[in-house]
Amino acid sequence: MMAQYLEIKAQYPDALLFYRMGDFYELFFDDAVAASEALDIALTKRGKHEGEDIAMCGVPVHAAEGYLLTLIRKGFRVAVGEQLESPEEAKKRGYKSVVKRDVVRLVTPGTLTEDTLLEARRHNYLCALGNVRDEWALAWADISTGAFHVMPLGQARIGAELARLAPSEVLVSEKTDEMLREVLSDLGIEATTLGASSFDSGAADGRLCSTFNVATLAGFGTFDRAELSAMGALVDYLDITQKGRLPLLLPPKQEAGARLMQIDAATRRNLELTAAMSGGRAGSLLATIDRTVTAGGARLLERRVSSPSQDLLTIHERLEAVRWGVEGSFSDALREVLRRVPDVERALSRLALDRAGPRDLAAVRNALTQALGLSERLEGVDLPALLGRSRACLTGHDALLELLESALVAEPPLRVADGGFIAPGYDDGLDQSRTLRDEGRGVIARMQGEYAQETGIGSLKIKHNNVLGYFIEVTTTHAEKMHALNERFIHRQTTANQVRFTTTELSELETRILNAGNDVAEIEKRLYDTLKAEILCSAGVLGELASALAEFDLALGLAELARQRDWCLPLVDDSRAFQIDGGRHPVVEAALQKSGDPFIANDCGLTAEGEAASVTLLTGPNMAGKSTYLRQNALIALLAQIGSYVPARSAHIGVVSQIFSRVGASDDLARGRSTFMVEMVETAAILNQADAHALVILDEIGRGTATYDGLSIAWATLEHLHEVNRVRGLFATHYHELTVLAGKLQGVKNATVAVKEWEGDVIFLHEVREGAADRSYGVQVAQLAGLPKAVITRARDVLEALEKGERERASPKALIDDLPLFSVATKAAPQTVSRETPSELEERLKSITPDDMSPREALQALYELKGLA
Ligand code: ADP
Repeated sequence: MMAQYLEIKAQYPDALLFYRMGDFYELFFDDAVAASEALDIALTKRGKHEGEDIAMCGVPVHAAEGYLLTLIRKGFRVAVGEQLESPEEAKKRGYKSVVKRDVVRLVTPGTLTEDTLLEARRHNYLCALGNVRDEWALAWADISTGAFHVMPLGQARIGAELARLAPSEVLVSEKTDEMLREVLSDLGIEATTLGASSFDSGAADGRLCSTFNVATLAGFGTFDRAELSAMGALVDYLDITQKGRLPLLLPPKQEAGARLMQIDAATRRNLELTAAMSGGRAGSLLATIDRTVTAGGARLLERRVSSPSQDLLTIHERLEAVRWGVEGSFSDALREVLRRVPDVERALSRLALDRAGPRDLAAVRNALTQALGLSERLEGVDLPALLGRSRACLTGHDALLELLESALVAEPPLRVADGGFIAPGYDDGLDQSRTLRDEGRGVIARMQGEYAQETGIGSLKIKHNNVLGYFIEVTTTHAEKMHALNERFIHRQTTANQVRFTTTELSELETRILNAGNDVAEIEKRLYDTLKAEILCSAGVLGELASALAEFDLALGLAELARQRDWCLPLVDDSRAFQIDGGRHPVVEAALQKSGDPFIANDCGLTAEGEAASVTLLTGPNMAGKSTYLRQNALIALLAQIGSYVPARSAHIGVVSQIFSRVGASDDLARGRSTFMVEMVETAAILNQADAHALVILDEIGRGTATYDGLSIAWATLEHLHEVNRVRGLFATHYHELTVLAGKLQGVKNATVAVKEWEGDVIFLHEVREGAADRSYGVQVAQLAGLPKAVITRARDVLEALEKGERERASPKALIDDLPLFSVATKAAPQTVSRETPSELEERLKSITPDDMSPREALQALYELKGLA
């Protein structure tokens, strides 16, 4: 057995090998050590190998999915080695033969299909990066839904596209250079390296043709070499991991990158589109706006939020669909129907991979039923184009639905082996075998009665166990009587209190019952296979049905959101307008709502005339709401272009081609780069890439270095964005010096977030107004943050001196020299106190002479002092 183990293991050096032994998957050697630690299970020993103990641990097969999940999450890959024959079959081949085993599947993060291993509301993408000479391409698939896409792309866009897709696993060729690997590791993406032959574009053509069972790929589109290479590698990897059982893949769709709004990785992070800064989904835009009620709808929303469109036709169609939901009166009823729609896409994928059970058949049936219900409710309704097309996909599956309805019971069990999922009346043979099996039990009961009467032993029972099968049981007190009838009752076993017998009649009946039971299981399995095949024949149209249901769910979900939150329908056109009235930040507003605080709505006008740029320079103290304002405007543009209503009173947006969002010097210690360097690299990317339809949001760029350096960089950046890139932009800054640019550059305006000063404190109004901030209020904010009083007082002094000096144009050096040292200044403070009349507490304290006091008096005095404090 060990020889067999080592032979299999040698083929999967990078994976943990789950080696099936009866009811357990066992792991040995280093695998056992790693797994026992990762899973927190006991590590034991089993036998010796080359004189050393063999480490071993195991997980029960019935609970294996949970353990698999933990291992995958912890970055392991798992090769599942199954027994390919029963021990009896092995024995037939020869005494001491080892049961045949082989790996039936390699479980990796990008190739999961089990519901328990997947998040229902998220995609699970596997990507492959193809490269032939200077051409690059990205192919991606979600084998749990069958989606398969490919796009050519420039090398510079690889990071941005991967950030958009957020794949669980990326396949790269062994030839991939270090720089690219770094891009991947920066994004926190698992890279799996495959041999160059997997990426061979010549072999890819044949591989893809056989996967999709076509003679040529021409029907799917024209693909360049890099695209073929990426798709070929992906299909090859599926073949390797699924051991030849190819998942249900829809034909590859070419995604034209130019039609999507471009958002790079840093911007996605900053705007917290699908994940919050903290990493989780909670607090992200996606989580805040998700009102979908089906898993398919939730995944579609995730896709849209990750890839807003810049195609006006698409945007308008989507907006019209949501508008129909907002203005219509039946969305509640429709959402009720949708709530009952199961996850068809994932059921289909499991069926294709032979990892499904009767419940997946039922999922298809239930989805068809709900789809029919939905389309009935929509009969005669005037639908917008997008939903009209979706409605057409909901029907036309009557034959399949009828078949599944008549074949399946209402709530089938999870596994085929559990049995009982085929409805009575569907198959005559099955019904007959079932009657025989079930009646057998009745016959046994009757037989028990007859035997009891015949023998006169009222307590006689016919029982069943796995060793004896059916047997007649009496207590030892009646043994004598039974032995006397030994012509008829054959003795089987005597236990402490009971004696067991059988009869020829009983064993014949037993055989019949047993056979009937086996027949039932066999027939059910056969029927399951035919139903599965029927469904897979319609996989293509069922996939379209799933998309159609998701489209309805998404439109109605966004409509629900718009109504709940009082959002408006944005006007999106091909101008360079950007006019938001009464805009709000969807996530901050939702958070404030929970605490009952109002969110202050703000306008934003960045409309660019002709070729000119339009930039607003925002100044104001920390905590005033600058970042919130910047981001809310980017999010409003993004929401409009995913086809959603937006959090504003009104919004007019000329289509945005790219969004860039940067925050100055956010700490990036984890990646071990100087924060300032990161900031500059990111700024460079914007200056090099932004076009006239871009929306650029810069939050305190340049603050990561010395004041004058930072100011100069911010200054030059702003000029470049205005003069060369000609973008629409919002620029928050602490450098009040920059505000003079408003007078010099035509498209630059100043705005400030208003605050009120009240008795030395600052009150944030969160209102954006025209003009520049007069002061930073940094000291007041520091005070709010709880800096020690002495530091605050001292900071006020320094600030006052600096400001005075600036007015009098004195050199900073002279100013600093003029200021008394901190130690002197603070030491002066207690003196000020002592000059005042001493407090009652101090007086009393002075009067105490501990040497003269008894412990009791001391305690008394302590209470007294405490009272005065
Ligand atoms: P800044 O970037 O100016 O330091 P932030 O944008 O981080 O300030 O805002 C600070 C806090 O003020 C936010 O966490 C939010 O709670 C609150 N806030 C910001 N904008 C608004 C607004 N328009 N209405 C109400 N509260 C706001």
